[in-house]
Amino acid sequence: MFFNHPAHHGRRAQCTGAMAGLVMLFLTSASSPAAPAHDYPVQPVPFTAVHLDDNFWAPRLETNRVTTIPYAFGQCKASGRMDNFERAAAVLRGENITNRQPPGFPFDDTDPYKVLEGASYALTVQPDPQMSAYLDSLIALFAAAQEPDGYLYTTRTIDPQHPHKWAGTNRWVNDPELSHELYNAGHLFEAAAAHYRATGKTNLLTVATREADLLCQTFGPGTNQLHLWPGHEIVEMGLVKLYRVTGDQRYLDLAKYFIDVRGSHPGGDDYHQSRIPPVDQTEALGHAVRAGYLYSGMADVAALTGDQRYVHAIDTIWENATYKKLYLTGGIGSRPKGEAFGANYELPNLTAYNETCAAVANDYWNERLFLLHGDARYVDVLERTLYNGLLSGVSLDGTKFFYPNPLESDGSHERSPWFGCACCPGNITRFLPSLPGYFYGQQGDKIFVNLYAGGTADIALDDGRKIKFTQQTRYPWDGAVKITVVPEKKSRFTVNVRVPGWALNEAVPGDLYKFLEDAREPVTLKVNGRSMPVKLNQGYVSLDRSWKAGDVIELNLPMPVRRVVASDKVFADRGRVALQRGPIVFCAEWPDNPGGKVRNLLLPDDQPFTARFEPALLNGVETIEGKAFSVSRNADGSLTKTGQDFKAIPYFAWANRGRGEMAVWIATSEGAVRLP
Ligand SMILES: [Zn+2]
Repeated sequence: MFFNHPAHHGRRAQCTGAMAGLVMLFLTSASSPAAPAHDYPVQPVPFTAVHLDDNFWAPRLETNRVTTIPYAFGQCKASGRMDNFERAAAVLRGENITNRQPPGFPFDDTDPYKVLEGASYALTVQPDPQMSAYLDSLIALFAAAQEPDGYLYTTRTIDPQHPHKWAGTNRWVNDPELSHELYNAGHLFEAAAAHYRATGKTNLLTVATREADLLCQTFGPGTNQLHLWPGHEIVEMGLVKLYRVTGDQRYLDLAKYFIDVRGSHPGGDDYHQSRIPPVDQTEALGHAVRAGYLYSGMADVAALTGDQRYVHAIDTIWENATYKKLYLTGGIGSRPKGEAFGANYELPNLTAYNETCAAVANDYWNERLFLLHGDARYVDVLERTLYNGLLSGVSLDGTKFFYPNPLESDGSHERSPWFGCACCPGNITRFLPSLPGYFYGQQGDKIFVNLYAGGTADIALDDGRKIKFTQQTRYPWDGAVKITVVPEKKSRFTVNVRVPGWALNEAVPGDLYKFLEDAREPVTLKVNGRSMPVKLNQGYVSLDRSWKAGDVIELNLPMPVRRVVASDKVFADRGRVALQRGPIVFCAEWPDNPGGKVRNLLLPDDQPFTARFEPALLNGVETIEGKAFSVSRNADGSLTKTGQDFKAIPYFAWANRGRGEMAVWIATSEGAVRLP
């Protein structure tokens, strides 16, 4: 088994000159897998090359590193998830264990894997020998719980005769339904690739490849192999990551096989995206997290095989998901039953499910579509989800989590310290530290600037030229972004600067939501003080010129408070308006509005708003203030409208001050008011 060097991300080494030649020679001859024949046309600039030092993300990432990661490991331990591995290891050592109780869920093993993945990313930002040693001890535990042939699934190992009832009587056979054996494997692979890239150590990678090798023997088209599809997707993405670090073609082939076998014989259903083969699917259906992971895996396999059938399918599904099934917060999966996509335009607010994991999956998927197509509309969806329906999944202090993320509350919602099914905390924990990797893309001699936050990036072009980017901005609170470009030496390349749809007149791609009024102030762009035409190509202003050290791009994205209305087809939002400023969706919450009620508010279309930054509120947020009416019913059935002050806060920051009412969509007509 050959492993790729961790500093060598994908097909492009971040090094130049004579040293590059030496390093490449070393990698090629000793340890580098050959570059794939096909790959994403745009490559992400790895999170290790991007450092945020802003006032919005950097503190959230630091809270994740110093609070959420240790906290989540603690919860995994306290809830018995580490003990499951201990008990499986004891059984494998031949010890007689007294407690053979199966884990609460057969996928409980994935929670430590996911937190370990997040901890690995965090280690690259801030070395932490104590954390590093703890990860090694956990990895030793995982290895000890792995059966001799590579199988790793604690519930069966603890008691093969009486595993969790979802596990089935034999290995794998129940996976298309409930066992989650391949789901566990997928998260193990994701964690292993991250840990290897972060630390260069092969201890977890060895555990992962042992199981991946077992999967390669077990599943496939051969007569002695199982022809089953994974019941909960993610192993496809995980195998691709193992392929990227090891160069082992079998892992990519198996990822492709798992997609192709899905829905190929009777017994599938829409819930599992397995009623028909994925390449023939046209609608976002079923369990939203499963779906998002499948579409992400299809994008990976499409990029690496060049097979356009997958691209056509996910493009079509994306149009359905984005044009007809997307919440304004970027959340997907509206139905609690089955944690699933609803019908087209079925987007209720109070009962909106919007699992945090589905927001993470939506961002994985949209990032991959951007890498395939180089089009900023996918980044528009990614950004909307990131700042709203994903970030709402974790409290400001980093220790409480939402599983569903509704757009309205009657006071019954509150973040939890943990869950029996704890998928969401782990997903937040692993996503946030990888966020810097979503800021830039690179293709040939073109650099894409996708997201905005203060910080630096060290980017290498295909020919090895190195360029440093520095962003100075108060984004997302202010749309003025100053980007300083410092190439090693003066040379020509293209900087693609993204102009978000919200800064123009497109609330989202498609016509599901639109701004009530057109933007008045134009987007402006200057290079070294000279105004440039804001002419968009796939959502970017392309600046193709000769750059020298210290050249400055000044992008100004005006951020007035915008009223958003939904398509008439969305029943839940009829007669209602939402507020957005920059990429941030706002909500009215009980502590900020007189009487603590917000569902009975009426917001007339002609009321002006003011926005201001409140440094002492919710760790510092921009708020929106204006006037509204509170509506109540009199004893005789008539309605009374009382004028009062109105205040809205960013949606992601709600539910940090106790339970109470919240609403994203506020009534503009009496018929839409929810009377107390
Ligand atoms: Zn979840």
